[in-house]
Amino acid sequence: MAKKYKGPAIGIDLGTTYSCVAVWHGQNNRAEIIHNDQGNRTTPSFVAFTDSQRLIGDAAKNQAASNPANTIFDAKRLIGRKYSDPVIQNDIQLWPFKVVAGKDDKPEITVKYKGKEKCFCAEEISSMVLTKMREIAEKFLGSTVENAVVTVPAYFNDSQRKATKDAGAIAGLNVIRIINEPTAAALAYGLQKRANCVEERNIFIFDLGGGTFDVSVLTIKNNLFDVKATAGDTHLGGEDFDNRMVDHFVKEFKKKHNKDLSGNPRALRRLRSACERAKRTLSFDTEATIDIDALFEGIDFQSAITRAKFEQLNLDLFEKCIKTVESCLIDSQINKISVDDIVLVGGSSRIPKIQQLLQDFFMWKELCFSINPDEAVAYGAAVQASLLCEDKGSSLNLVLRDVTPLSLGKSIRGDAMSVVIPRNTSVPVKRTKVFVTTKDDKSFMSVKVYEGERLKASENNLLGKFNLSIPPAPRGDIPVKVCFCIDVDGILNVSANEETSGNEKDISITSEKGRLSTAEIERMIQEAENFKVEDMKFMKKVKAVNDLDDYLYNMRKVMKDDSVTSMLKPIDKMKINSAMMKGKQLIDSKQDQETFTFVDFQKELENIFESAMKKINRGYSDEESDSDS
Ligand code: AMP
Repeated sequence: MAKKYKGPAIGIDLGTTYSCVAVWHGQNNRAEIIHNDQGNRTTPSFVAFTDSQRLIGDAAKNQAASNPANTIFDAKRLIGRKYSDPVIQNDIQLWPFKVVAGKDDKPEITVKYKGKEKCFCAEEISSMVLTKMREIAEKFLGSTVENAVVTVPAYFNDSQRKATKDAGAIAGLNVIRIINEPTAAALAYGLQKRANCVEERNIFIFDLGGGTFDVSVLTIKNNLFDVKATAGDTHLGGEDFDNRMVDHFVKEFKKKHNKDLSGNPRALRRLRSACERAKRTLSFDTEATIDIDALFEGIDFQSAITRAKFEQLNLDLFEKCIKTVESCLIDSQINKISVDDIVLVGGSSRIPKIQQLLQDFFMWKELCFSINPDEAVAYGAAVQASLLCEDKGSSLNLVLRDVTPLSLGKSIRGDAMSVVIPRNTSVPVKRTKVFVTTKDDKSFMSVKVYEGERLKASENNLLGKFNLSIPPAPRGDIPVKVCFCIDVDGILNVSANEETSGNEKDISITSEKGRLSTAEIERMIQEAENFKVEDMKFMKKVKAVNDLDDYLYNMRKVMKDDSVTSMLKPIDKMKINSAMMKGKQLIDSKQDQETFTFVDFQKELENIFESAMKKINRGYSDEESDSDS
């Protein structure tokens, strides 16, 4: 594989609930998972807006309960989808933040930032998380980072992939490759556990995260990672299990107290966090408790849930996962008995019932827990990033062959779907199919491009459409070649040409409805820059206020010391006390003040204080010199 990109490149697992960043370390021959400013190896995919600032990651998640309407998460569930999508309509009921229909049915998240209403699309929120991950990496590497490999669920469709790439562009990142999450996990597994595997091994990746579910079957042999099939659900994961538990406790609360808390975002947010914790506990314990003070209308809530109840609440979802496993194996044409390693990835793969169902399905074969389920995807992304970059220390040498998750085709007569590239075809790929007109003397052929598995084209996802002019002729006489081309990122381009007239047209699906235009991306890049400037401005102000506060604190300590104050001249004491009072007032009214006010005032304060202290010191030294003489 030709190495192209200069400078360091990072791998980012942009998760629904948590994100993770890694970089390949050539000398150690392994990827490093990079910890964030809180010392955590994963960062919540949360962005929050307050009256004074924007927060990303842990800081955003930590204040979610007190600011639910302006704390955004789950952008990955929104990305590349339409507002009217039933999946989004369902999620909106559960989110404490507001989502409205924007231009071309694109969902828009509305928040209050610095007292004003502001709208963001999912790409912008994701770009903020990506920016945070980039900053984490830059701090660790001590240099700027421009290139990144970003992972997406294997089952992400064309619009979701493109929207993720757009999010990278808004974050100012050069997304050098989009790779599928289970494939990235397979890279991590292959390199860490099956290095130099000479015999062909069939690997099954089961990746169940916070909001998405993917499975993939690959073969590994002589450093070739060959994906055979992939399947999944871009809307199934830990959050759905949390939701079931939240519903359960909302009902219980209603029964116990005859009060419905479901309309209260703050109560719901607190209950959801408690449920997520309880769910994690149930992965190693058989019972978990819920204990929330003043959950709703001042009522404390205490309850418990057993593992059995949790499993019962979610059994249909767990079984859905196993059905997907089965269909992926059928597509791969690999018998379950021939699977050598079953690798678990994603936080939700820790759920014992899921593990048990999976083990039963594979006829009690041991499951592989040896790679870190939270970090494997970022690890694999860093491997891919290194492969694409000039990294002198790296001796990585492997080839990755992925597949397209959904069939792609064109609608034909009677709204039928004519598949040009079937699902699970290795990418990159280029396929051409010839179509003819079905009516006499048509002056154009309409090319409507769909993705999906339904036989009726309009039941699938329309990616884009265009008309190609053709010379009038009896039906069936004019062949039009339609070429579908999927690049290494899994992104599609379609062209059509009619040879007699030489007419040719490219479908730039980039301009389909709902996708951001170049101008919009540029505007968002500018806005992201503005945010960066505002964040820096805010941090400068925080520092100035804190510095002044620290200085005042130390002054107060000194001024409590009688041995010092007794030596101060009364006029100096008065000046110091009134300056301290002014300092306190400034801090109390910090919202209304500019940064320079604190900086300038601190200088003034230092002058007053230090010149008074100098006078004491001079006094002391005078006394000392007096006694010496
Ligand atoms: P990921 O997207 O891979 O970071 O997975 C995040 C999801 O994993 C969240 O929904 C977590 O609640 C869930 N999760 C993490 N640890 C556990 C655990 N021990 N048991 C059950 N779910 C977990």
